[in-house]
Amino acid sequence: MIVIGGGLAGLAAGVALAESGWRVRLFEQRPFLGGRATSYVLPDGEHVDNCQHVTLGCCTNLDDFYRRVGAAGKIKFFDRLLFLDPQGREGEMQAGFLPAPFHMTGSFAAFAPLTLLDKLSIARAMLDILRTQGQTADLREEGGISMLEWLRRRGQTKRAIERFWRVVLVSALDEELDRTDARFGVDVFWKAFLSNSTGYRMGVPAVPLANLYDGCKSEIERRGGEVTLRAPVRGLKMESGELTGIRFDEGREETADAYVFAVPHTALSELLPESVKQSDPSLANLDKIKVAPITGVHFWFDRVVMREPFVTLLETNTQWIFNKTALYADSNGAGKPAAAGQYLQLVISASYELLQKSRQEIIDLCLTEVRQALPAAREAQLVKATVIKEAAATFSPEPGVDRWRPKQQTSIPRLFLAGDWTATGWPATMEGAVRSGYLAAEALLRAEGTPSNFLQPDLAPDGFIAMWLGKTT
Ligand SMILES: Cc1cc2nc3c(=O)[nH]c(=O)nc-3n(C[C@H](O)[C@H](O)[C@H](O)COP(=O)(O)OP(=O)(O)OC[C@H]3O[C@@H](n4cnc5c(N)ncnc54)[C@H](O)[C@@H]3O)c2cc1C
Repeated sequence: MIVIGGGLAGLAAGVALAESGWRVRLFEQRPFLGGRATSYVLPDGEHVDNCQHVTLGCCTNLDDFYRRVGAAGKIKFFDRLLFLDPQGREGEMQAGFLPAPFHMTGSFAAFAPLTLLDKLSIARAMLDILRTQGQTADLREEGGISMLEWLRRRGQTKRAIERFWRVVLVSALDEELDRTDARFGVDVFWKAFLSNSTGYRMGVPAVPLANLYDGCKSEIERRGGEVTLRAPVRGLKMESGELTGIRFDEGREETADAYVFAVPHTALSELLPESVKQSDPSLANLDKIKVAPITGVHFWFDRVVMREPFVTLLETNTQWIFNKTALYADSNGAGKPAAAGQYLQLVISASYELLQKSRQEIIDLCLTEVRQALPAAREAQLVKATVIKEAAATFSPEPGVDRWRPKQQTSIPRLFLAGDWTATGWPATMEGAVRSGYLAAEALLRAEGTPSNFLQPDLAPDGFIAMWLGKTT
């Protein structure tokens, strides 16, 4: 069988099918694997991630995938999330000794950037999520409602929205609250923060992202398959409504028993002939799925300016600062920590306002914010900087978007789909991409009459939630 696209979705499908005994041939257009979640080497020799990527404890399929390909040990997990407001007040989120859903109560009560009134309004909304296990009735309204609307209906204070809900959700979902389907937002809080005490733990790669995929190629090849890079697929060969092959440059064609297209929805829309879109209505609306941007800013300072592994800034353009030097410290990754200096990576999700700004404007803006947040950076020299704008970083989780997301099995025989944008129920994340790959592999095996399961269950509820739901952990 053939997989087109070597991002997480294609790799997850490819590895799962190879393990099921299929000879997998994977074609990727770029010279490296990992798609949007990858890294590369700059002309000056620095290894940079396309953008910092993080996972959470509740991402059970990504965790499973990393284990399968021998990358699990390259992810460092952190229990403490640190927040910093413009007045220099710190707040943290960390599980204490109380069982779920009260595990965050201690750190939340002490969270300095919020007032008691803000906290009471947040607690009320959390109770609503708890009571309904993340299924509040208004999430089922026709066409979906926005997260901002959901919060307004629950009387959230302005500061609670800006300093709590927006901070968590814009990073997790890459979209502004008024353009986010509340279903995704509520799900984040139910799965990561309420239903168990470990779902919020943040996993950060301790190596440049491309190093996470070393095991994928060997896993596919070990089982008789092959991975071909620099191999852009240019079209589908259709005969009498059936997919009979794929086309490459210079008239080359490849055929297989089945095909998994694991490319972004925008790329698939261009590849699919109009006749295919018309014959399967689920493929006719790909162009309705919008995209959202993320900007990554890389700073190299001449000295150490930050001790924490990462910090979240409140009410600034810069949302996260990652201390790459510390994160790479004891890995064999090619992160090349500077001798005495420090490498930081900043992340700005839903960065619509930065798209029109020049590289220098973005550097100046972020440098001012970093110097405001980290006093040690005020004296430090910025040695060099890089800005990576990803205009189409993720699909936009806007209200009602799920109706445009096709399933992994299409009505065209032998044509299967994978990608974070396919119907997984999850937003555009690495977890969503791996889920889609596993679902595509399951659909293919089902169609072949040899069903198998790859999809992992959600993290089991624990603490009082487990007792309440009558489940044991
Ligand atoms: C800046 C940024 C930051 C992000 N941060 C996070 C984060 O912190 N946590 C998180 O969980 N997620 C994050 N994401 C989202 C995450 O990266 C994606 O959801 C996930 O990687 C998507 O995987 P995919 O396999 O579905 O798609 P892709 O990674 O886009 O893979 C598709 C692959 O198909 C290839 N391809 C396209 N056309 C062809 C063709 N014609 N022939 C052959 N190959 C082709 C592409 O080159 C690519 O390798 C971020 C994304 C970006 C861009």
